[in-house]
Amino acid sequence: MSTATAPETRRFDADVAQVLHLVTHSLYSHKEIFLRELVSNAADACDKLRFEAIAKPGLFGGDTDLHIDVSVDKAARTITIADNGIGMSRDEVVANIGTIASSGTRRFLDALSAEQKADANLIGQFGVGFYSAFVVAGKVSLTTRRADAQAGEGVRWESNGSGEYTLDTVAGAPRGTTVTLHLKPDEDEFLHAWQLRSLIARYSDHIGFPIRMPKEDDKDQPAAEWEVVNQASALWTRPKAEITDEEYQAFYQHVSHDFEDALAWTHNRVEGNQNFTSLLYIPTKAPFDMAMRGPNERKGLKLYVKRVFIMDAAEQLLPSYLRFVRGVVDSDDLPLNVSRELLQHNRNLDKLRAACTRRVLDLLDKLAKDEPEKFKTFWTAFGNVLKEGIAEDHGNRERIAKLLRFASTKSEGAEPSVSFDDYIARMPEGQDTIWFVTAGSYAAAKGSPHIEALAARGTEVLLMADRIDEWMGSYLHEYAGKKLRDAGKGEIDAGTADADKRKAVEKAAEGVLGKLKELLGERVREVRVSERLTESPSCIVVDDHDMGLAMQRLLRQAGHEVPESKPVLEINPEHALAKRLEHETDPARQQDIALLLLDQAQLLEGVALEDPAAYVKRVNRLLAAG
Ligand code: ADP
Ligand code: MG
Repeated sequence: MSTATAPETRRFDADVAQVLHLVTHSLYSHKEIFLRELVSNAADACDKLRFEAIAKPGLFGGDTDLHIDVSVDKAARTITIADNGIGMSRDEVVANIGTIASSGTRRFLDALSAEQKADANLIGQFGVGFYSAFVVAGKVSLTTRRADAQAGEGVRWESNGSGEYTLDTVAGAPRGTTVTLHLKPDEDEFLHAWQLRSLIARYSDHIGFPIRMPKEDDKDQPAAEWEVVNQASALWTRPKAEITDEEYQAFYQHVSHDFEDALAWTHNRVEGNQNFTSLLYIPTKAPFDMAMRGPNERKGLKLYVKRVFIMDAAEQLLPSYLRFVRGVVDSDDLPLNVSRELLQHNRNLDKLRAACTRRVLDLLDKLAKDEPEKFKTFWTAFGNVLKEGIAEDHGNRERIAKLLRFASTKSEGAEPSVSFDDYIARMPEGQDTIWFVTAGSYAAAKGSPHIEALAARGTEVLLMADRIDEWMGSYLHEYAGKKLRDAGKGEIDAGTADADKRKAVEKAAEGVLGKLKELLGERVREVRVSERLTESPSCIVVDDHDMGLAMQRLLRQAGHEVPESKPVLEINPEHALAKRLEHETDPARQQDIALLLLDQAQLLEGVALEDPAAYVKRVNRLLAAG
């Protein structure tokens, strides 16, 4: 190969330099993954060529035998990974290797710098593949020629991983990409061919293209004869019974870039009017950006058509509330030339999506039933994401609801362990409502005044303390024929009093209610006697279909317009504070007590007071007065 133009030296983007630094300094305990990453890139390149060649068969140029060659040169202390896949143009080399374009990377870097930790796991998930070469290599040299480029348009990229790289045009480069690692002094272990073979067997066995190594492990006869060292058949196409758990896990790590094992998977071949295979995994831990719902960056669920990789298609294949799922879907029915746009309007895809969703829900069902420990792990990692499905997936609402878990007034501690079915099984005869309460924390839910009367009567109340719960609850009105009700909304009949007694109580409380209405004026919509309270003096409630105060505030903070709605104040006329107000004659003190009843109720709702100083002064005045 000869140099056609003068080599050019460029600096890495600041982002790349940062990633390189992170990778080389945090992957030392997972050094060997460089091989899996480079092999995986080579396989991707073969996939891409096969895909592009559907439209342009000429790209193969007669060489349709796609493969990946791995070899060692002990004397030169190099490892070489070569593929005859799609290759890269000069611009692509710069764009793909010299810069970091994806917004996911930015978020990743931001997350890392925020947490000040470079966890190998995070780095793995995020898939900094190529740069892992610098964990073991002091210099990396990549030569590539794109399948549609002329013989003289090869590109050589070289770097020692510290700030700069050189670019050079070379002639005579074969199609595809050859990566040569010049090993660092301490990395001799990787110069043993058997070592590389065993790494390939462990991590890359399932790659759908032949990975070859020279038959003789002898530096004097390089590449005399190549032999295939992996199974070279796509894992999901093999019969389930022949695949070991280790193989499933290795494949999971390949598609997910996770260093941890998957929690569970479901592998299915469907034949009938729609033929497809799906292999779907649930990870053990949530990735760092799980909470974000960005639609553009969902990776790790790959769409194949008749064994040909088409694209990452998580958004198309599964709804957003299942965005934690990783794996592959291989369809026999979609057209090979399907594009993202075409895919959106394809009816087969809707069926595929529904089927994949069903598979995942089936798997979760099975975990919940047969492997409660695993289900608990799942719930901890992804429960809050799954809850979005209650709003998003009307058709599967009941199935999703079945999987939900909450803390309860009848369960131990804050752990969400109670399902709606558990609740129903414990319901006494005659109860037709599943009660829940939402609050900012477990303690706030458990101590909520809204549930006092229910709890006093022994009625179980589910304690919901996640941000998403109130929103979710507003979509869930029923489960298994039972009404679901938020104890903080609307008028409730806790069954504590019969109608006559209630009338009597209300009559007796007329005086206090009147005073409160007068003293609080415009601050409240209504003041009424509570059916909820047994211990607290007061609480705030909203109407059945109104948003809770905490949620109103959340939405306002997020920049949404939320119509101003005044709270309804409920009071417990039996409480000492209410009595005190009734008998108090000093107007200033009356005002203090009235405001205190309102402020306390707001505090219990998790609402920050507008004027906390005034509140404290009021409390102190009342305390001092004895
Ligand atoms: P990822 O594989 O997750 O995209 P990598 O860091 O492993 O990230 O690779 C970065 C990019 O470099 C790839 O997306 C691809 O465009 C390009 N690339 C890397 N290796 C090869 C290869 N062997 N052939 C063609 N392109 C490659
Ligand atoms: Mg990669």
